[in-house]
Amino acid sequence: MNTFSLHSKRPLLIAGPCSAETEEQTVQTLTKIAQTGMVDVLRAGIWKPRTNPGSFEGIGVKGLPWLVRAKELTGLPIATEVATGKHVENALQFGIDILWVGARTTVNPFSVQEIADAVRGSDVKVLIKNPMSPEVDLWAGAVNRFMKVGVRTEDLGLIHRGFSAFGQSEYRNATMWHLAFEMRNRFPGMFMVCDPSHIAGKREYLQELSQKAADLNYDGLMIESHISPRDAWSDAAQQITPDELDTLLRGISWRRTTTDNPEYIEALEQLRREIDQFDAEIFTLLSRRMDTSEKIGRVKLDNNVAILQSDRWQSIVDRVVSRYSNYGLSDEFLRTILEAIHIESINRQNRVMSGAGGAGGAGGK
Ligand code: PEP
Ligand code: MN
Repeated sequence: MNTFSLHSKRPLLIAGPCSAETEEQTVQTLTKIAQTGMVDVLRAGIWKPRTNPGSFEGIGVKGLPWLVRAKELTGLPIATEVATGKHVENALQFGIDILWVGARTTVNPFSVQEIADAVRGSDVKVLIKNPMSPEVDLWAGAVNRFMKVGVRTEDLGLIHRGFSAFGQSEYRNATMWHLAFEMRNRFPGMFMVCDPSHIAGKREYLQELSQKAADLNYDGLMIESHISPRDAWSDAAQQITPDELDTLLRGISWRRTTTDNPEYIEALEQLRREIDQFDAEIFTLLSRRMDTSEKIGRVKLDNNVAILQSDRWQSIVDRVVSRYSNYGLSDEFLRTILEAIHIESINRQNRVMSGAGGAGGAGGK
């Protein structure tokens, strides 16, 4: 009988090494983490689906008794990743309390179904990481597969670990917070934690990402911690020692949830934080769009090409209006926004032209 509840505490903090490597490393790391008194669930990867062959793919079944040992020593529930039905079978035999489906597995409906079928009838808790690609339907589909085999909503949870995106960015994975909010809308009240370790890819970003998750009202965090991070067999750059974890967790300020009228205030604060995050994303993207527009100005200047190309602008307006009016945005709103963007683009391009001493033009396409 698995008596642990995902909703037993808020925030719920999950921590442990990316991988169980040796018995000593696993047990030492997990007991040190437990000694901080800040962590509620211990994690370690036993089976590791990796992007590149030749990377450490996990110690396998042999590591399960190490997790059990850590559980006995600390009294804390333990979590591990499963990618096949056989993994589930083994994990359940050893009494693992929480299973999670990794980002490379959530993308594959056959694998998710196989795991769901193996979980059927047990009371194990299941956390589902977002898929590598930014597709909410795949993530939601995985949740629905577990619901269909009878896993109770309160025994299911979500882990937001960021999405892989082409191109360079600060973090290893793009946050795309709005996709996590979308999941929260689809599954109201479902337990959801943030995994800043896999978003960040580097330990120096963990604190800021963890605080952001607290600000955005996540139910908790999953953070990777290793007794000797630099020697870790996987994800060495993003792991921190149990002592650093202790400091990090104590430094997070979790939002207050009790007030005179908690429901109202909490709902309002939550929505406002979502709005702020959307604004941050909108204006970051707008600024990047303007940079590209300016580059177009330079290319045209270098080639001595006139930049007034109203047919191109008209085609942008037509495309945006026809595509996004289906999203509940009025034509008038779309045209107003586009006009403002156009004016700013023209100003940027004019600056390029005058800075270079050329004749002024207009464009922003
Ligand atoms: C992990 O948690 O160690 C892991 C492999 O995560 P993800 O599936 O998010 O890459
Ligand atoms: Mn990892």
